[in-house]
Formats: sequence, C-alpha cells, structure tokens
Amino acid sequence: MPGSLRIAIVGGGIGGLAAALALRKRGLDVSVFEQAEVLREIGAGVSIHPNAARLLRRVGLEDQLQKIGSPISGIALRTSQGKAIATPEGPAMPAFSGGDQGYNVHRADFLNLLFGALPKGTVTLGHRCIQLREEADRVRLSFANGASAEADVVIGADGIRSVIQRGIGLQSRPTSEGIMAYRGLIPAERLSWASDLKDPTLWLGFGRSFLLYPVARGRLINMVAFVPTDTDSEESWSAPGELKALGAEYAGWDQPVQDTISALEETYRWGIYDRAPLPYWSTKRITLMGDAAHPMVPHVGQGAGQSIEDGFTLAVLLEGCTTKEVADRLKLYETIRLERTSKVQALARAAGKLYRSEHDSAAEKAERFGEWIAQGTWVFKHDAERAAADALSESGR
Ligand SMILES: Cc1cc2nc3c(=O)[nH]c(=O)nc-3n(C[C@H](O)[C@H](O)[C@H](O)COP(=O)(O)OP(=O)(O)OC[C@H]3O[C@@H](n4cnc5c(N)ncnc54)[C@H](O)[C@@H]3O)c2cc1C
Repeated sequence: MPGSLRIAIVGGGIGGLAAALALRKRGLDVSVFEQAEVLREIGAGVSIHPNAARLLRRVGLEDQLQKIGSPISGIALRTSQGKAIATPEGPAMPAFSGGDQGYNVHRADFLNLLFGALPKGTVTLGHRCIQLREEADRVRLSFANGASAEADVVIGADGIRSVIQRGIGLQSRPTSEGIMAYRGLIPAERLSWASDLKDPTLWLGFGRSFLLYPVARGRLINMVAFVPTDTDSEESWSAPGELKALGAEYAGWDQPVQDTISALEETYRWGIYDRAPLPYWSTKRITLMGDAAHPMVPHVGQGAGQSIEDGFTLAVLLEGCTTKEVADRLKLYETIRLERTSKVQALARAAGKLYRSEHDSAAEKAERFGEWIAQGTWVFKHDAERAAADALSESGR
C-alpha cells in the first residue's frame, strides 16, 4: 500500500488481531508481531457483548460469530441455594442487549476466527518484541530472535506485562482484589441440565460467586468461580488449581454448582488484580490498547470488548491520516478511550463488590443488581466507531 502509514501491532491476542482487522478493512497497511510460535489460546470462555459484536458484524463476521458463539440475552442471578434473584427475562435485562446481539465464545475459536479473517502474512509469529526506539520519523522494533522492523505507528497490544507500556515510560501496578478465580470447561454431556443453560447464570453468596455459561454453541460449559484469598495468587490464566480445594469452597451450595465441580477434570487458578488507569497511553508515534492500556477486573466481561473497541477507534482515527497528523490522532484516541475505559474499569470494580457482598438478602441483591444493570446500559449501547468519527469531526482535524 504505497503512501499509506505503516502500522505495527505488537501482540496478536484478541485485541491485536481485532485491531488489525479493523485497520485492514479501512485500507491501512498493518503488520502484527506475536511472540508465540503458534497461535494458541487458553481453554476458556470469553464474552463478546453487543458493544463489541456490533463492530465485528460491520466487518462481516456475523455469520462466523453465530457459528461459534452462544447468544447472550441476559443473565440469571441466584443465591448460593439456588433461589432466583434475577432472570434473563426480568425487567432490567433489555440493558444487557444494548439493542444488539452478544455472544459467549471459546477463546480459541474466537482467536481463530479473527486470524482467519486477516490476509495471509499479516501476522508474523515467533517475534517477541524486546525493545523499541522512537525516532523523529519512525519507530524501530527489535525482537528476541534478532529480527528488527520499522513502522510509522506502533500499537502495543501486548497484554498485562506490556513491553511497549514500559517502552513509553509507564508501569501499571497491580493491586490484589482479595479474590482469585478457579476456571474450567466441562463438556455439556456430563451435566444432565446443561441443555437448559442458555444464558449466563451467576450464584451469589458469602463473599464468593460462581458463574456458568455455555460456549461453543452449547458443547461446553465455562465455569468461573470467585473465592476470597489472602495470599498473592499468580496473575496467570493457566496455573493449575486443586479440585478438592475448589469443592471445599462451595460445599453446601446449590446442586448445579456441586455437579459442575464434580464433573471437572481439571481447574486453573487466576489471581484477580486491579490497576488504576494510566496517566497517558501515547507518545508521538506509539500508543497502547487492550490489557496493555487498561487491564480490568472481569466482573462485567468487558476485557475483550474494550480491546475490540480500541482497535476500531484507532482504525477510524488513522484512516486517511498523514504522517504529520499521527501524533494528534493518537492523542485524540487516548482522550476518547482513556475516559471510557476508566469508567468501565470502575463499573467492573463496583460489580465485583456487589457480587461478593456478604450481608444482603436476595431481595436487596435483586434491587441493587437492577440499579447496577440500569446504570451499565451505556457500556453495551456504545458505538465506538461513531464516537471516534464524532470526536474527529468535533476536533476539526
Ligand atoms: C484465559 C483468559 C480468560 C479471560 N477471561 C476474561 C473474562 O472472563 N472476562 C474479562 O473481562 N476478561 C477476561 N480475560 C481478559 C481478556 O481476554 C482481555 O482483556 C482481552 O482479550 C484483551 O487482551 P489483549 O489482546 O489486550 O491482551 P492478551 O490477550 O494478553 O494478548 C496479548 C498478546 O501479546 C503477546 N505478547 C506479549 N508480549 C509480547 C511481546 N513482547 N512481543 C510480541 N508479542 C507479545 C501475547 O503472547 C498475547 O498473544 C481473560 C483473559 C484470558 C487469557
């Protein structure tokens, strides 16, 4: 693409690949450098809520999302003993759809979908970025394998331990939320009631919660079980956990909770850490996105969604942009996205507190959840492309 900006994305996770797709669709010249030798994902589910799904739909991925995803229409909330607090049909639930369809997907299926939608050669595997140098007219990247590359713009999509974040003089500090999550996937045929589980179901009780939702069109059930911890757990998605310890945490809970734990063959531990918003994301030619920019606790399922919004925002702002305009556009991106993602980070924090609160009755929880979900509508309704186009036109750039 002669004359077009050369954009390098460091990191080929959900955020990096979605950004590449959005940028390519607008005719931009983009390369992704991913450290892994083969593209692979952890066996786990991830939510693609309407705010992200509507963007993917616009780049032609609706059919494929339908093929791999389990549609979300709301969430069922239960007490630890199974008493209904809120149902997917309840009055608060239209907020969840944000006027559009969202999906729960298996991470590996979703990553393959994004990868498959990119032209061959867009993603270069086995390239771990170890250094970057910003010069007046370009950025130079160095990789652990001795290779190097240069670009007009670099986007750091390299996750919570971002090299690019450090490269621009930042370092976000994790603070434990005092909880950890056990995760697992169970083949649906092992649970007699699994075919009835259409929407995410969250059991709430005494400082802990238990979430189940179908992925892979109902073939698998994804479990995330949040429990208190006073020790620092690894901030890893794949540290092995003990099934016995998990079982002990939920002794006496509703039968489907116990059935699920008994049906698991393995579980993973995930230390839940929070981080304050960063003071800035961008320099003249480098910016951050996804977990490198705004890691968040998982209680509104927006980690992936916000990273997808970042990518589509960048695509709107960088389309037709000249080398001279790059610094201004990256600043505008930072202004729009830092404000929104900081609000989503705060909402996720508040949701975690609500889910874990120990003293509320089911009725109080229902009321507080209703209020919370009504407040959260803005998350799901948001149109990141429109917001970027409006901000660009208002800025007069
Ligand atoms: C197993 C798992 C479960 C999750 N569950 C939830 C959930 O339930 N709810 C929620 O809100 N969020 C969840 N998240 C987080 C959510 O998936 C992320 O917020 C979202 O996908 C955005 O991630 P990302 O692309 O920015 O970063 P990542 O997904 O971390 O991708 C970063 C990519 O960069 C690559 N990379 C790192 N360093 C370098 C380097 N130096 N050079 C080149 N490449 C590099 C990595 O290999 C990786 O592929 C989960 C994440 C995982 C992994």
